[in-house]
Amino acid sequence: MSELTTWQHFIGGTWVEPASGQYVESTNPATREVLYRAARGNATDVARAVAAAREAFEDPRWRDLSQTRRGHLLRRLGDLIAENAEDLARMETRDNGKLLREMRGQLATLPEYYHYYAGLADKIHGDFIPTSDRQVLNYTAREPLGVVGAITPWNSPLTLTSSKLAPALCAGNTVVIKPSEYTSATVLRLAELALEAGFPPGAVNVVTGFGAEAGQALVDHRDLAKISFTGSTATGARIASATAGRFIGSTLELGGKSPNIVFGDANIPNAAMGVVAGIFAAAGQTCIAGSRVFAHRSVYDELLERVTERARTIRIGDPLDEKTELGPLAFEDQREKVAGYVDLGRGEGARVLTGGRATDGGGLGGWFYEPTVLVDVHNDMRVVREEIFGPVLAVMPFDSEEEVVRLANDTEYGLAAGVWTTSLSRAHRMAARLDAGTVWVNTYRAMSPMSPRQGFKTSGVGVEHGTETIREYTRLKSVWINTSEEPVADPFTMRS
Ligand code: NAD
Repeated sequence: MSELTTWQHFIGGTWVEPASGQYVESTNPATREVLYRAARGNATDVARAVAAAREAFEDPRWRDLSQTRRGHLLRRLGDLIAENAEDLARMETRDNGKLLREMRGQLATLPEYYHYYAGLADKIHGDFIPTSDRQVLNYTAREPLGVVGAITPWNSPLTLTSSKLAPALCAGNTVVIKPSEYTSATVLRLAELALEAGFPPGAVNVVTGFGAEAGQALVDHRDLAKISFTGSTATGARIASATAGRFIGSTLELGGKSPNIVFGDANIPNAAMGVVAGIFAAAGQTCIAGSRVFAHRSVYDELLERVTERARTIRIGDPLDEKTELGPLAFEDQREKVAGYVDLGRGEGARVLTGGRATDGGGLGGWFYEPTVLVDVHNDMRVVREEIFGPVLAVMPFDSEEEVVRLANDTEYGLAAGVWTTSLSRAHRMAARLDAGTVWVNTYRAMSPMSPRQGFKTSGVGVEHGTETIREYTRLKSVWINTSEEPVADPFTMRS
């Protein structure tokens, strides 16, 4: 046997071998080198993890912990992430191919997720309701739900897991996480740090493995109070139908095909940079990728020239190298999918202005794909309608605000949108009319744990981030206490 690192499941505060005895290998997409193997989870492992989470949820060490103390634990976890930031950033870059400089940026803000919810932990409370009967005391309480299942994708494992873990713990739940089979290591390390921070064993559990096996078993587990999922719309739909009959809540953060709209009055050099950032950062492997650009006909040529020129000079290579601007796609099927879409686009009549080819990243041997710009495209083509999740941009001209609102909203998705304009009134008009959960004006990809986000249409259900998301991780109880000692005269009339 080689000296490959082996990760077990993390259950009840300890490492647990998979019931099947089987493991899944994870590969560095820049070099195709096998990095480590992680436990291949099944229903037995999931049942163990949910039982550990349930036990921790009932344990007075967690149940009776004051909300202020819960906040202290979250703060400590944030601090530990900050102390381990460089290691975590490197682990994640090796695992999914995202640029180290982007991962360093993500890790610099990741502690804020825990610090934000640390501050919120002792501000979760119900209300006193002054009903008409002064002798009846009515109050509400916000209670934790129980065991929360969190299922996450490979493109930003730590950040997307933290969007769920921090508020779920803040509200007093315990959690079982099923990370992507392509990127398990950093999430396992995060669970280890949670134990080190002082969260009781079983508060944070991780079962690794395939979606159809470990993921499906988690979704189907009867003792789960909620599923919080980030991933594709197809898997989200499967999860929604599996949980519907059990009436448990689900938060679903799904796919996108976001428009990035450049008006004639925009600062064109900045807009071009925003378009490049929207689609070529992270090699287009972000849910919020601005993959459809609509440029006003008066600036279409200039914008296209700037974007294409920058796309041609993007430095492709080793994501660990600080100078690299575009890393690999995360795994082989992902590159095949991207290449397949570009071929499909060509077949549909699209013209490839730049890119359109797979590369090995200058001899690294990994799954790279050139930044690609497509023109002569329209809203009926599959390359414009479907999420590609790669560095492929479709650029289209428009003539009026009315027309571009119609084109931008003509999609099944509604995750995000970008608007580039120097007109204040137009900025507000567009923000109101775009059918997307997040609208950026003169910027793109801005995000904060403080700011709630929600996918519209098939991009999702429920809210993540901000104070709003606490509603998703609590249930509301209404308590009525009769303070009167008078005899009940009429059992057929209720007090109110
Ligand atoms: P995916 O849906 O294939 O997998 C996501 C997770 O679900 C993985 O952990 C996977 O193992 C698991 N899974 C797969 N089948 C399952 C099943 N039947 N039951 C339970 N779990 C199952 O998505 P992906 O390819 O990992 O991620 C890319 C997708 O995620 C893109 O569509 C992207 O837009 C979306 N995404 C959305 C957001 C957002 O916030 N809206 C953020 C990042 C990524």
